[in-house]
Amino acid sequence: MKVFEKNNNIFKLLSEAISEGIIVVNENQVIVATNGSANDIFGYETDELIGKSLNILIPKKHHTSHKSHFKGFVNHSEKRHMGAGRDLYGIRKNGSMFPVEAGLNPFAIYGNNYVMALVIDITLRKKQEEQIQDLNARLEQRIEARTEELHHTIQELQEEVALRMEAEAKTKESLKKERDLNELKTKFLSLVSHEFKTPLSGILTSATLTGKYKETEQQEKREKHLDTIKNKVKYLDNILNDFLSIERLETGKATYKFSQFPLSKVINEVVYDANMLLKDGQRINYPKDIDEYVIEFDEKILELVLSNLMNNAIKYSGEHTTIDLQVYYENNILTITIIDQGRGIPEKEQNFIFKRYFRAENALLDQGTGIGLNIVKSHLENLGGSITFTSKENEGSTFSITIPITHTDKS
Ligand code: ADP
Repeated sequence: MKVFEKNNNIFKLLSEAISEGIIVVNENQVIVATNGSANDIFGYETDELIGKSLNILIPKKHHTSHKSHFKGFVNHSEKRHMGAGRDLYGIRKNGSMFPVEAGLNPFAIYGNNYVMALVIDITLRKKQEEQIQDLNARLEQRIEARTEELHHTIQELQEEVALRMEAEAKTKESLKKERDLNELKTKFLSLVSHEFKTPLSGILTSATLTGKYKETEQQEKREKHLDTIKNKVKYLDNILNDFLSIERLETGKATYKFSQFPLSKVINEVVYDANMLLKDGQRINYPKDIDEYVIEFDEKILELVLSNLMNNAIKYSGEHTTIDLQVYYENNILTITIIDQGRGIPEKEQNFIFKRYFRAENALLDQGTGIGLNIVKSHLENLGGSITFTSKENEGSTFSITIPITHTDKS
């Protein structure tokens, strides 16, 4: 016990040069020696700690555990760092607590065991560590916030890109539509000026001639010219209807109106109008016993389809021929067939017959626009129907349309 007192000077001499605090305790945890640094760290005067229990330098909650720790440690007698993995604290004389780092060195002199603790006040280091941690945390927060902002910006950009692409596609589409429509208008103007010229001059001639037949008995001649006028006006009306259809199909404005009507009504109208166009000796056979069919479809479209097919059959057939219109209904499908004994369609051109403006070479001397079959097909397909044909040159053609009929009343 007196070792350190006896050798006080040597201990002092050696320990004062060291900046770490040195505290030597005996087996009973009584302090037997300190150096100046230890006194400074803990706030004691020289030798004030000598004879005091080590516990006055240690926070209360560690007292017991520290004691047992200490004993075990002395028994094991090896050098080591204290408080591995957890924070250590010391208590100053004024009661304030501060973080320390301590290394323990057990040793024995003259049969007595001691432990020399090397203590460093790490308040500053801790503060710096905390500051660094704080800075890191704030940095992480900022990075997180920035990353979030970036994500957001990227998302906004992606949305913007998608919107732009969509707008570009729309612009392209409408440009294409506009080009198509312009092309259509140009074609229309040239077709109109060409196609309208002949019937209009026919109408003018007939009207002029009608005016010349003044006598009562010339009524028959007047009627003949009036028929010609009606015929040409009907022809022009059909062309205009076809063009209106194209424009509607082209601009996506083709709307359909379903209603219930007797099939015979449409067929009678088509045949009535077609009668005005018949050539000498031409006749139309059509079923007269179809009053039972009350169908649900777009009436105007059905009329447009049938009058196109009927007018073609008349136009492309010679005098004294028969045109047959047949109706057939099975499994909710209505089939209407128009058979002519006309010139037919050359085999090599049959593939192109539904192309807009296409006209077969054996039809070029007749008036026509080449749009009728094209719109007929588009309308039918839009309404779930179809059109097919068979044709043999110089023998005749058969055009068949099918339309789905969900509702028929048989009276
Ligand atoms: P258009 O009759 O005004 O020329 P369409 O589109 O109705 O136009 O018909 C396209 C072409 O199909 C016609 O020009 C003609 O060559 C051919 N065609 C259509 N129907 C018949 C038919 N019944 N007999 C012979 N050829 C036909």
